[in-house]
Amino acid sequence: MRVALVTVGDEILSGDTVNTNAAWLGERLTESGVRVARMTTVPDNISAIARVVNEYQAEYDAVIVTGGLGPTHDDVTMEAVAAAFGTELAADEAVERWLTEEGGYSGDDLAPGTTQIPKAAQLLRNPEGVAPGCTIGNVYVLPGVPAEMRGMFGLIADQFSGEKRYRAVVEATEPESQLLDRIQEVQDRFDVTIGSYPGAHVTLRIESPDEAVVADAARWLRERVETP
Ligand code: ATP
Ligand code: MG
Repeated sequence: MRVALVTVGDEILSGDTVNTNAAWLGERLTESGVRVARMTTVPDNISAIARVVNEYQAEYDAVIVTGGLGPTHDDVTMEAVAAAFGTELAADEAVERWLTEEGGYSGDDLAPGTTQIPKAAQLLRNPEGVAPGCTIGNVYVLPGVPAEMRGMFGLIADQFSGEKRYRAVVEATEPESQLLDRIQEVQDRFDVTIGSYPGAHVTLRIESPDEAVVADAARWLRERVETP
């Protein structure tokens, strides 16, 4: 399963908010065997959001969008997702029922727009707040507030799965440029993918769906690189 993540918000692009939602979702999905194919951040702008959502819903098995759900004027994600599906927002009975029965609101308290999701979308309840999420087609729209995003993702997590991949890490003290021959050779000998991440040492991350192959490749590599 290949999934794209779209995080919405000017405050992420300006660096005022660190995009922990993308990192958290990336980790959770990867652990479940899902391939996260894209992480894209877009501004609070209807056409910018709609364009990316429209492209990704056609290209990937699922799209998760976070942020920009509140009823204030700068929160335009719902409207943009509706536009991406060629539809519009409409007050949704399930949202209204959820907000009045579980949120403790009376119908008159609700700010206009609070109960609106795209037509043909289904409500996703927010276990941590009052902004409803929704699903439409293969797109899941979640809040930006991290605790709310995590709570809502918990309700749909079982819909995201794939082939589990195993990992091993080998640390090498040699410069990355000198490791290229062994990085190539381990991939020729074993059916694994290798990521190389320079830092204080070079971290080599070996991955495969076969746990034994990962262990063999890691052993082969550890015997052939200078380790700390
Ligand atoms: P609300 O209903 O409270 O307006 P929302 O779903 O509209 O929530 P945003 O308005 O986009 O979400 O963001 C609310 C807060 O959540 C922001 O102030 C920001 O700190 C945080 N936030 C939003 N997106 C992210 C993200 N990708 N990673 C981490 N924090 C985020
Ligand atoms: Mg908001």
